Amino acid sequence: MEIEKVAKLIIENFPRDHKEKDPFKVLITTVLSQRSKDENTEIAAENLFNKYKTPFELSKAKEEDIYELIKPAGLYRQKAKRIIEISKIIVEKYSGIVPDSLEELLKLPGVGRKTANIVLYVSFSKSALAVDTHVHRISNRLGWVNTKTPEETEFKLMEILPKNLWGPINGSMVEFGKKVCKPVSPNCKICPISKYCKWEGKR
Ligand code: SF4
Repeated sequence: MEIEKVAKLIIENFPRDHKEKDPFKVLITTVLSQRSKDENTEIAAENLFNKYKTPFELSKAKEEDIYELIKPAGLYRQKAKRIIEISKIIVEKYSGIVPDSLEELLKLPGVGRKTANIVLYVSFSKSALAVDTHVHRISNRLGWVNTKTPEETEFKLMEILPKNLWGPINGSMVEFGKKVCKPVSPNCKICPISKYCKWEGKR
């Protein structure tokens, strides 16, 4: 099937290594990553986890205690509030253990389907398809889907992609979207899957 073949090409050409698998750190880092560049997210996450290593420690912090630490990731007041709220819930409701189900993860404040699916795949090795702006844009350009929202894209992709590709396609499409199939001016000339792409703006 062509879609499966092209998805595998993206995964092979743009691998993404998830070094950190600790569910709490993956969850909080994904919250930090919202509207932040990867390099800034990494700095903020490192600052934060150098000082607070567990949900128990973070649940006792005050929002202002972590402002400076997470400032590099932007929206630091809003993110500090969420991170501490999430930490408190993980401690009080889940005894310090991040839940491994989509349903429970979605109950956490500020945690949407993308964040929940990243945690399920990266930390719990479950088949979970995280759709962010890169996955949404590229899937539409390729002609795999014709959708308006990332959520719609997620459900369509689950119908057409084999389950074993759901997890890895996210990280690889993010890399592909940053390096080649950029939001503005995609570099179609060097694109390894150009011949399979149905985008009419292709140059
Ligand atoms: Fe993106 Fe261009 Fe490649 Fe199509 S050909 S996937 S638009 S970079």
